[in-house]
Amino acid sequence: MKHFARVTTLAAALLSASLITGTAHAQLAPAAQPAAAATAPAEARKANIVIIGTGGTIAGAGASATNTAAYQSAVVPVDKIIASVPEISKVANVKGEQIFQIGSESFNNERLLKLAKRVSELLKQPDVDGIVITHGTDTIEETAYFLNLTLKSDKPVVVVGSMRPGTALGADGALNLYDAVLVASNPASKGKGTLAVLNDEIHTGRDVTKSNTFKTETFRSPFGPLGYVVEGRTLFYRLPARPHTLQTQWDIDKIDKLPEVAVVYAYGNANPAAVEAAVKSGAKAIIYAATGNGSVGDYMVEPLKAARAKGVHIVRASRTGSGVVVRNAEQPDDKYDWIVTDDQLPQKARILMALALTQTNDTKALQQVFWKY
Ligand code: GLU
Repeated sequence: MKHFARVTTLAAALLSASLITGTAHAQLAPAAQPAAAATAPAEARKANIVIIGTGGTIAGAGASATNTAAYQSAVVPVDKIIASVPEISKVANVKGEQIFQIGSESFNNERLLKLAKRVSELLKQPDVDGIVITHGTDTIEETAYFLNLTLKSDKPVVVVGSMRPGTALGADGALNLYDAVLVASNPASKGKGTLAVLNDEIHTGRDVTKSNTFKTETFRSPFGPLGYVVEGRTLFYRLPARPHTLQTQWDIDKIDKLPEVAVVYAYGNANPAAVEAAVKSGAKAIIYAATGNGSVGDYMVEPLKAARAKGVHIVRASRTGSGVVVRNAEQPDDKYDWIVTDDQLPQKARILMALALTQTNDTKALQQVFWKY
């Protein structure tokens, strides 16, 4: 990768200096911000950010400006997306890199590992200050959680998407990308794990989830976002409480394969054949997206016990979208040698269980992982 050009214009110096405080106050007179002035380096520089393109709606295009929800995703190359937001070059030196051009529903373990390993490689380069990943919103929550658990760096990594293609009225991708670059460039974002930026909000990769099929206000974290991005200012209000990146037991550089973990969804009149199919296809664990507090229908208990008897781990999760699953409450987990999620949604539990299984097959240790991360 070519080295980034160092830019030391007055504007860049003012912006970078104000970013040291965690917020950008480029328009304010230095006298109004003595703390920022006191910590400003003599010659500040713009951050070097690599923007990795993976596809999604942020790379999408519709037939007309009124196509806000019906369009083709993953068609615009990342360099073209970057070029369409010239404001970005005022806040960072950016380089685009196209790794995939896919809808994020097409992510699988191989693609996830390839992306994470490339991010890890880039983070090791001394001239890279942060990474932005453009990504479909459908599975940002899975990719962000995976990166949050496996990257060994405190440099900012921000996953960003959009809900409307760039061709649509009210397109949100340009501002989301600009905001993501601002967050990735900001020293205040260091050491906070993988972040997801959309709709003026900064979320932790651990908690973020997509909650609406078409609205721009779709990302939700059960405990609220970590912060906002407004008028070029990155504002943090919370910190992630659970271990991430440098504090976890996984290192992406040492993971070359993820075990198969299936998710089986519960509903009235659910079919036990789904459990049997997961076992037959070689799943090492089944995340059972159960109703309520991880409750399991009477006709589903035996098939799940049979799967466990064959060595497949059973993890009781909830399809409700939030809340913890209480061990030994709805089902006798100790007796059945099952596991419960903490508050991880089924799709996040799948990521965590796959990682956990790369290190242990012990039920007690696996259970601890859910309570820790
Ligand atoms: N399904 C596509 C994806 O996740 C488009 C959705 C989006 O990016 O908002 O990539």
